[in-house]
Amino acid sequence: MRRYLLPDGNFYKANLHCHTNLSDGKKTPEEVKEIYKSLGYSVVAYTDHDILIPHDDLNDEDFLALHGFEMEINAEGPWSSSRKCCHICLIGIDKDNITQPMWHRKYYLFGNAPNSRDKVKFDETLPDYVRKYSSEGITEIMKTAREKGFFVTYNHPTWSLEHYPDYMGYDGMNALEIFNGACNSSGFIEYNPRVYDDMLVGGKKIYCVGGDDNHNYNELGTRRCDSGWAFTVIKAEKLEYNTITKALVNGDFYASEGPEIHELWYEDGKVHIKCSDADTINCTSATRFVKLAMNEDYSPINEATFTVPEDAIYFRITVTDKNGKHACTNAYFLEDLRD
Ligand SMILES: [Zn+2]
Ligand SMILES: [Zn+2]
Repeated sequence: MRRYLLPDGNFYKANLHCHTNLSDGKKTPEEVKEIYKSLGYSVVAYTDHDILIPHDDLNDEDFLALHGFEMEINAEGPWSSSRKCCHICLIGIDKDNITQPMWHRKYYLFGNAPNSRDKVKFDETLPDYVRKYSSEGITEIMKTAREKGFFVTYNHPTWSLEHYPDYMGYDGMNALEIFNGACNSSGFIEYNPRVYDDMLVGGKKIYCVGGDDNHNYNELGTRRCDSGWAFTVIKAEKLEYNTITKALVNGDFYASEGPEIHELWYEDGKVHIKCSDADTINCTSATRFVKLAMNEDYSPINEATFTVPEDAIYFRITVTDKNGKHACTNAYFLEDLRD
């Protein structure tokens, strides 16, 4: 039976990680909307540091604002450029879910966030939440966020200086940020395929997303502008809050730095992909049976079929274009694809 891994519907280009002048970004939420509309995006998740503020007023026929926020959990000790941290975005799954979980009345407001303190809704019956940088502390944050109805992404492990022993201890995320635009634009190599495979092999059934983490200190059109580097393409029936977030929860999306994936399906032990002009397409399955599709004459390739090894636990596909930009599908676990 043919199983479409990106279901019926429309493709919506999304930035799931964004900052405005409500925290430490430069542009207003409206200006960010205009930047992303001009780049062909339909969805922006506003994830300013530490403050959950809805932006429904920005919605129009072609644009949807999701509400969320980014939490930073810093290792103990004074700030230094080598101090580790963990950053997590929480995106509200229900459009009416605007109560900020894990609120602290005094701490953790970053950049301009203190100016918005009074706009934040939180459960006043709960004690102030103290963030702890440890496997247990971060797992508790991820799990609490999930219980409270948020889609949770684990962000930019390279920038955060986190390694295998750190991220393998974190449970409860929905997705890893496999691309992060702001980190890439400032010199980090924030393309994290190995981190993703480590987590998948280690038993974490998670998705991968791309986000800009834009702060817009450099103007659009300049080379160092951090808008437009990395995105997530969501497939959904319509551009409506809960429909889009349901597609996120279901994994109906792929992450990209540029290439587009048009079709993806699994049938009789084989996975098929159709995409925009690619230099190579490869299928990874955490076995030594990696498959690479390319044309011998270096002409663009637009589709490929891979036999998935029977002993694979999962597979995922990476499309690479001639500029070295990637698109990554989510990982698909064979146990979920059996008829
Ligand atoms: Zn961050
Ligand atoms: Zn950020």
